[in-house]
Amino acid sequence: MTHGIDPLDLAKALIAAPSVTPATGAAFDVLEGALTSFGFAVERFIDGIEPDGPVENLLAVRRGKGPVHFGFAGHLDVVPPGVGWSGDAFVPEVRGELLYGRGAVDMKGAIAAFVAAAAATPAEAGTISLIITGDQVTDAQASYDENGRRSLVPTGEPDEIVECDDVLMAIGQENAFPWIEPDCGIEFDRWGLPKLDETTLQSTLPHVFFGGDAAFGPKNIIWAVAHGHDAAISIDLFLRGEDIAVRPAPNMSMSSQKMGIHEWSYDNEVSLANRFKVPWADANKALANIRVEVELGFDPQTAWHEAQRCLNCDVQTVFSAPACIECDACADICPTDCISFVPDGPEEELRTRLRAPALNTSQDLYVSVPLKTGRIMVKDEDVCLHCGLCAERCPTGAWDMRKTLIEMARAGAAPRVSVEAA
Ligand code: SF4
Ligand code: SF4
Repeated sequence: MTHGIDPLDLAKALIAAPSVTPATGAAFDVLEGALTSFGFAVERFIDGIEPDGPVENLLAVRRGKGPVHFGFAGHLDVVPPGVGWSGDAFVPEVRGELLYGRGAVDMKGAIAAFVAAAAATPAEAGTISLIITGDQVTDAQASYDENGRRSLVPTGEPDEIVECDDVLMAIGQENAFPWIEPDCGIEFDRWGLPKLDETTLQSTLPHVFFGGDAAFGPKNIIWAVAHGHDAAISIDLFLRGEDIAVRPAPNMSMSSQKMGIHEWSYDNEVSLANRFKVPWADANKALANIRVEVELGFDPQTAWHEAQRCLNCDVQTVFSAPACIECDACADICPTDCISFVPDGPEEELRTRLRAPALNTSQDLYVSVPLKTGRIMVKDEDVCLHCGLCAERCPTGAWDMRKTLIEMARAGAAPRVSVEAA
């Protein structure tokens, strides 16, 4: 036998019972009334202590036949309404085909839909349970255990509402490894994540490696790509019977960008152009067909203009003390006065004697060995624009603009070559 519960009526009744975190009393009364009307045994209990509790909860069970047991976990509390409501957030209102009210989506509407579905399910289909809490939303702070693992602990502070136009969710995926046999040799930690060597990504089962969100929990795609490279190196070394802990070093090179006295292989002119817009495909075509690329990309000329905005932060000022004749021309031309030729001294005192005092102590100074007159060259990296004027002006090439290129090691023959060379 089944029973009829109107999910819309139940959702409206739940919304009309205000339950800004934590939910208590009225909202639970509504839910209990609905569940007991078609055979659920309801237990309500209060649990927890300050600052996380006490929290009101509800456990409802309708026993059925057979081994099937379907559970639903949810919460009745809602975040405060905030601004932008055209009516009372706790007076439910149907407009067109939509139900408006705080909690209509998260998650009183979902609870009402589940209760209606349970009411329409014959009791003999199996056992159904609901575990509903009154405080799912809470402020939390990071806590670290003895192994440096992070967990979130509720602070007990009231909720903070941040108004946003758009929210971009840039998070990874939670893990679940129910398909890995517990006795296969792969050990998991208390978070359900595999125990791994952080460098090699090797698990406790030596020929199994993990990467991406599956390795250390949700991160982003950049981590996933890096893990892919590192795991590939490990697997390659492992298959060849070599020590996977001996990692190949990345290749790093620096090359001068000088082509002539005033000529550089990179463009150091400051571009004041705003960001160029990427042209889009016609909206009618893009919306009609999911395979149509929305962003069409720049044409060659716009791409060139866009590239001119690059700050060339891979090009650095490099100083060669033996070549310097201490003419001070570079210090004269530097637009930010960040080059000084001064007697050496303790850093704290030295910072106060520069052409422009270097007050940001979190940024290191670039300091040369003593020059022929006994002075040293000091450059305040904090304010250098990397404009290259010093290198352009220097008559001896003591200043040079050099491009740094770091090439990460890859799997294959290269790792062994660089390990042997190291
Ligand atoms: S690159 Fe430009 S800002 Fe930096 S030290 Fe040289 S002249 Fe000064
Ligand atoms: S311009 Fe060149 S030679 Fe002259 S002080 Fe600067 S680094 Fe030295």
